[in-house]
Amino acid sequence: MSSEPMQLIDRFGRVVDYLRVSITDRCDFRCVYCMSEQMQFLPRAQILTLEEIYFIVRAFTELGIKKVRVTGGEPLVRQGALSLLEKIGQLEALHELVLTTNASKLAELAPGLLNAGVKRINISLDTLDADKFKQITRTGDLAQVLQGIAVAKNLGFKKIKINAVILKHRNHTEVCDLVRFAVENGLDISFIEEMPLGQVSAEHNRAESYYPSQLIRQDLAKQFELISSTYQTGGPSNYYQVGDSATRVGFISPHSENFCSTCNRVRLTVEGQLLLCLGNEHSVDLKKVVRSHPGDLQRLKQVIVESMQIKPLKHEFNIQEQPVIFRHMSVTGG
Ligand code: SAM
Ligand code: SF4
Repeated sequence: MSSEPMQLIDRFGRVVDYLRVSITDRCDFRCVYCMSEQMQFLPRAQILTLEEIYFIVRAFTELGIKKVRVTGGEPLVRQGALSLLEKIGQLEALHELVLTTNASKLAELAPGLLNAGVKRINISLDTLDADKFKQITRTGDLAQVLQGIAVAKNLGFKKIKINAVILKHRNHTEVCDLVRFAVENGLDISFIEEMPLGQVSAEHNRAESYYPSQLIRQDLAKQFELISSTYQTGGPSNYYQVGDSATRVGFISPHSENFCSTCNRVRLTVEGQLLLCLGNEHSVDLKKVVRSHPGDLQRLKQVIVESMQIKPLKHEFNIQEQPVIFRHMSVTGG
């Protein structure tokens, strides 16, 4: 038998070593770009159990996945999330366990997360203005999120990164304030262009709210020195160092700066679909595999290896057509 470590490689020679897992489609926020106000959530029988999620993640790590990001929906609203993270954190082949959260429950759960082996946290924060925060998230409380960030920072996570989706006329004038906040708190920050995932609501027009990364960079350059950086996290951000601070600013630009050529990731949806690309529907039903052949790790691994053959070359988002992809980011795992 070969002693070469397993690797997942697609038709275009890209090595896939990063898995993003949505562990719930539910959330305590209703961000305007992510959900409609009256969301219909999935019935329990349709979503993977925590045991099924663990089993699938285990199969992936044995196939060369080194980094796992747990996300959602809001991952920390799922009961048992912490024990799932603890189990995943103990998988031998895993190098990095990371989390994306809206931080509403972070103040309370941060010690448990650190204990589970989560090293890096991405936190969504689109504005520092409490009223705007309420308008964008519809149900969120800015003070709770800021407290969560403060607690996590004091506990000493290896890296905390802010994720901000920038929308014209909602928060585009706040990019400098957000970077200042990141610098003052020793955090990184990524600005994200909105993607046309799922029907949100008539009140939110994606074409009108589109604000390209290039404009954000221009706005920031008026107040900060941005030094181009080769830093990479395994994600799609292009990074810049902010002057002589410890902060890096990233830009995730699915529309204006296509990053597909270096794509190293796949996604497991809360319904057990393995998505080969965020912007395409190419997928494989892993729930069907684990439910029809419980405990059969070899069969599951074989299906995952074969799925690499249908990973598409690139996404084709078009902000003018709403929605291009009918699944919400919360189901997909942002
Ligand atoms: N609830 C957690 C949070 O908000 O961080 C994790 C899940 S959320 C779907 C993950 C990330 O996706 C967040 O940073 C959010 O801002 C981003 N997101 C959601 N919908 C998006 C969209 N339509 N376009 C771009 N980013 C989106
Ligand atoms: Fe919830 Fe995150 Fe979507 Fe906002 S972006 S509604 S916090 S899942």
